[in-house]
Amino acid sequence: MQQSILQHELVIRLGFFLGVLALVALAEQIAPRRALSISRLRRWTSNLAIVFLNSALVRVLFPMAAAGFAGLAGARGWGLFNNTVLPFWVVFFTSVVLLDLAIYLQHVMFHAVPALWRLHRMHHADLDFDVTTGARFHPIEIVLSMLVKFAVIAALGTPAVAVVVFEVLLNATAMFNHGNLRLPLALDRVLRIFVVTPDMHRVHHSVEDHETNSNFGFNLAIWDRLLGTYRDQPDEGHERMLIGIRDYREPKFVTDLLGMLALPFIGRVTGYAINRRTWKGDT
Ligand SMILES: [Zn+2]
Ligand SMILES: [Zn+2]
Repeated sequence: MQQSILQHELVIRLGFFLGVLALVALAEQIAPRRALSISRLRRWTSNLAIVFLNSALVRVLFPMAAAGFAGLAGARGWGLFNNTVLPFWVVFFTSVVLLDLAIYLQHVMFHAVPALWRLHRMHHADLDFDVTTGARFHPIEIVLSMLVKFAVIAALGTPAVAVVVFEVLLNATAMFNHGNLRLPLALDRVLRIFVVTPDMHRVHHSVEDHETNSNFGFNLAIWDRLLGTYRDQPDEGHERMLIGIRDYREPKFVTDLLGMLALPFIGRVTGYAINRRTWKGDT
């Protein structure tokens, strides 16, 4: 089982990506939560181009990939789990949960540090919130997160198969929780006890800073609840809330590919990060 997951990693990843993308996109057509403000063709062309670019970049820079690195850590005896005698299923589940915690903490860090926020704000600058927003990250943020992931893998000694399962799961849940989906409210309430739902993550894409600085989780909902960053709903409601970043609303910069790639390099460095606001009306 483990061997075949590792051997077919690329096919599994691509299959899940395309499958979940198609499913969520279809569900968005059937039950959309909000009306989109920009043409889907224009946004999707850029958002999917970024996915393609990032995948190629990661292949070139990290041919070993995270799972390969976990295999190396295993062979060299690096990290906690490679130096303990625990049942495999305990190591597997603990690894997946701790990798998720690491991604949550990394996400908070990308909001807190002004230079990192510059990179991450490309994700937030999308004027609409749909399945492709979930895969839209600046290439430099992708490279930095790979390095963080390598460090976490080396420290924890996570098995390669746990890394693959975690990455596929994260990719799928990120697309789901960015979906422009109208889930029945009762279902949303039950689901969000365990996982991050679209209504929960949409709060994080609000232009309002107290809302942006909440719901940092991408997968398990527990981290926001446990660490005090959980916010139930947006003040304005899901249909009326403004999505994106307050000062960057020009489609040329936030919707078109070249503008999106340039976005980290424009504006002042202290423009926005946790606890720093520059727009008028702040007190
Ligand atoms: Zn964010
Ligand atoms: Zn997001």
